[in-house]
Amino acid sequence: MFSYKWSKTAFVAGDRLLDFLNTVDFSGRAGNHNRLTSYSSVVEWSLAAAIIDSAEAQAISLIAANAPFQAKQALIDLVQWRETVYQVFSAVSQKHEPSPEEWRIIEVSIQYAISSASLKRNDIGIAHWVAVSNGLTTIPQRLALGLHELLASDLVAKIKQCEGCTWLFIDTSKNHRRRWCSMATCGNRAKAQRHYQLKAALE
Ligand SMILES: [Zn+2]
Repeated sequence: MFSYKWSKTAFVAGDRLLDFLNTVDFSGRAGNHNRLTSYSSVVEWSLAAAIIDSAEAQAISLIAANAPFQAKQALIDLVQWRETVYQVFSAVSQKHEPSPEEWRIIEVSIQYAISSASLKRNDIGIAHWVAVSNGLTTIPQRLALGLHELLASDLVAKIKQCEGCTWLFIDTSKNHRRRWCSMATCGNRAKAQRHYQLKAALE
């Protein structure tokens, strides 16, 4: 099966959870636009995103290969969760209230992730919830903990949606006027379109 190759162009959001929400192509979200087309693509993305290390990637891939039905269901659940989280952040980026139903879904996913996580202190004594390696639940659990950290941080106020596609990013630009997920893709497409329209108007 075709598997998308994750390069640094897939990690432009400034936050790993938002990068995960951006695992779709530029023209839409559902069906053909989804880049997480198999459980191995989830593992490959998570490895490229440093959500898991290579030993965990190998272990999870083996479990997925031995339990294809569970892996397929885990993929379906994860993509569905991604779309719910996307709807929440899409609303947040437009300064709207997320829908109570979608908010409840993400609340439950965070509660579930924390219920089996460990509270660890880092080098400077700040505590974080850390998910231990636990097969097919490792990646969704780490993503839900990442979602919790993002929602609890002041970066939430800086989340924007690209004007050319559905990708989300944290606008850390000085003047807060970043418009595109990436200049190399949506920024250039918009520039080319403006150029074409100008040319057409002059002819
Ligand atoms: Zn874009």
